[in-house]
Amino acid sequence: MSSIPIKSPADIVKMRAAGRTAAIVLDRLAKLVAPGVTTGEIDRAAGEFMAELGCRSAFLGYRGFPAQTCISVNEEVVHGIGGARRLAYGDLVKIDTGIILDGWIGDTATSVPCGAVDPETERLCIATKRILEGAIPFAVAGRRLGDLSNYIETEAVKLGLGVVREFVGHGVGRKLHEEPQIPNYGRKGSGPKLKAGMTLAIEPMINLGVEKVRILEDGWTVVTEDGKPSAHFEHTILVTENEPKVLTCLPPIA
Ligand code: MG
Repeated sequence: MSSIPIKSPADIVKMRAAGRTAAIVLDRLAKLVAPGVTTGEIDRAAGEFMAELGCRSAFLGYRGFPAQTCISVNEEVVHGIGGARRLAYGDLVKIDTGIILDGWIGDTATSVPCGAVDPETERLCIATKRILEGAIPFAVAGRRLGDLSNYIETEAVKLGLGVVREFVGHGVGRKLHEEPQIPNYGRKGSGPKLKAGMTLAIEPMINLGVEKVRILEDGWTVVTEDGKPSAHFEHTILVTENEPKVLTCLPPIA
């Protein structure tokens, strides 16, 4: 039995607004990444941007999560908590932003080099972004979710990269985590059949080294087992009968 929510046209209007707002917040936060800036400053700015845009964090308080956004640096994969850490030239900064607007959630993440990163980290970052972009077209009605998952895994493995297995993408809507889970690995032809009106957060988390991760003593921050960098990109998309629509995209320039 599938319990994957299907959004109505009216729901989708709200999801679009939430997605776009999440994209605006993330874009503004990405521009704050610079040597000397603390991750806590970026997180505080997130709270201000969200208030300005009439939304609030979908992460703050979620299962007790203590911050507005997730900010994860270098070997930190996801769920990092902004604080006193001062960014340094060469850091790779992952910012994940989930917002609630009018009861609906937009969830999007990006990886931002602080200045410039070393060539291997840059290769990881570009590859992860391309893998997300390449995976999105798989999210069409009638296709199995496993095809999308398999694409992500295959592309990453081809490049000798590690695919994080313990954390996955997810359906998103009124709730931050809805059915289905969207692993970044899997078999072609497996998993639920996608239907128009599903809204999915696709989020490859790819490591330069081994796939294995562990959680720090703060109970949240996920780090790579081998200490090598990790990259993360995420979009909330809408499944349609033909081309998927990216909901977490910036408004077009007027
Ligand atoms: Mg997500």
